[in-house]
Amino acid sequence: MLKDYEFWFVVGSQFLYGPAVLETVAARASEMARQMNDAGHLPCKIVYKVTAKTNQEITEIVREANYDDRCAGLITWCHTFSPSKMWINGLAALRKPYCHLATQYGEAIPNEDIDMDFMNLNQSAHGDREHGFIAARLRMPRNVIAGHWKEETLQKRLGEWMRAAVGVAFSRNLKVMRFGDNMREVAVTEGDKVEAQIKLGWQVNTWPVGTLVEVMDQVTEAEIDAQMDAYRSRYTMPADHLDSVRYQAREEIAIRRMMDGEGCQAFTNTFQDLYGMRQLPGLASQDLMANGYGYGGEGDWKVSAMTAILKAMGEGKYGGTAFMEDYTYHMVQGEAFSLGAHMLEVCPSLAADRPRIEVHPLGIGDREAPARLVFEGHPGKAIVVSLVDMGGRMRLICQDIECIPPAMSMPNLPVARVMWRPEPSLATGIECWITAGGAHHTVLSYDVTAEQMRQWAAMMEIEYVHIGRETTPEALEEELFLKDLAWKLR
Ligand code: MN
Repeated sequence: MLKDYEFWFVVGSQFLYGPAVLETVAARASEMARQMNDAGHLPCKIVYKVTAKTNQEITEIVREANYDDRCAGLITWCHTFSPSKMWINGLAALRKPYCHLATQYGEAIPNEDIDMDFMNLNQSAHGDREHGFIAARLRMPRNVIAGHWKEETLQKRLGEWMRAAVGVAFSRNLKVMRFGDNMREVAVTEGDKVEAQIKLGWQVNTWPVGTLVEVMDQVTEAEIDAQMDAYRSRYTMPADHLDSVRYQAREEIAIRRMMDGEGCQAFTNTFQDLYGMRQLPGLASQDLMANGYGYGGEGDWKVSAMTAILKAMGEGKYGGTAFMEDYTYHMVQGEAFSLGAHMLEVCPSLAADRPRIEVHPLGIGDREAPARLVFEGHPGKAIVVSLVDMGGRMRLICQDIECIPPAMSMPNLPVARVMWRPEPSLATGIECWITAGGAHHTVLSYDVTAEQMRQWAAMMEIEYVHIGRETTPEALEEELFLKDLAWKLR
């Protein structure tokens, strides 16, 4: 939860200017943290910690930050000049996200009042450059945000970075529960789980489907009644086939019980391993996603983990974040778009209207007709994100998209669906996505931006590829070639 995290405000200075200046710096830093918290644009609290003047003070605050679970990152700033050699030991040990806020206390230069005392107290332009050099010299991942600290736009940018940093904390503690393996013969859903744990912190492990069935058998009718009430409060119930809906409730309760028992926030399953189950979980997976859990179909643990992470980053926003799959194109001149869906499991957080529970046969998986939620996605700007394993490294691909109102009713399509135009256009967008090796499974989010994914990838130290309005296949090919060389040298 975002409210469980705080960010530590560490201000750089030195003894050169005397105790009065240091007292002023500390008082102003504390005031800035308080006012930024009160302005209401930050999702997490800023806590002013120290005006640091020595190597020891900086090393100590970094050590504390590394071990405090509440601290999701450091925000640094230099009101005065803070010689950066005293930051080296601390920054070299830093294990938390790091943002350099390049700002200054006062907004304007006071024409009549400016003298050398003012200059020595208000020299962020000077101090922040010395501070920036050492992070560049250390090759540290960090985000630099410049502007006056009272500006709403700056505070909102800082807030968006905080959400990306919370995504880092969430990732480093994430556990993914796998029921069954990846779908047979599929390449893009595979990956190096050891590398994923080293780089991203994910614990990805398997549990037997047979155990899930045992837990399902222990679910009581009263528990299913309560889950049915929860469905009724959010979704439109069908007139018949309620047994199918009740079976999904049983599955949902059991999956959640196993995940919560192990502290998992994401899961995968596959239609090829439904041992002892009468239905592929459809409604069950969809409702779990609506409650913040990550999901990936066909054993795709990477997309499941990413769904959970983007949901954590977008907490409290209401556009929606979902497991998605590119399915079919509408390749008509002037109205070209992509149709995204899945055989069942699209998160209802994207829904334009109240989702309907429907029961239809499923051609795949050789089981009973499963209950699922059917709805249209709402219009708006969004991103699709795919994490692929390039062998030796992970690549995060992010594409800007524009979701459009439903262009046709498709009355015989019994699944949730979203239509969008990828940037820079349908054809070029497809060319770029395929050139980069992006998967058919993605996380679609209206709540998280490409800029936040760039920050997250930088903090996790993985490759990032962005496909947006300005991207051309030619430039992208060149970028991928150069990045491939660079990543082999790291
Ligand atoms: Mn799929």
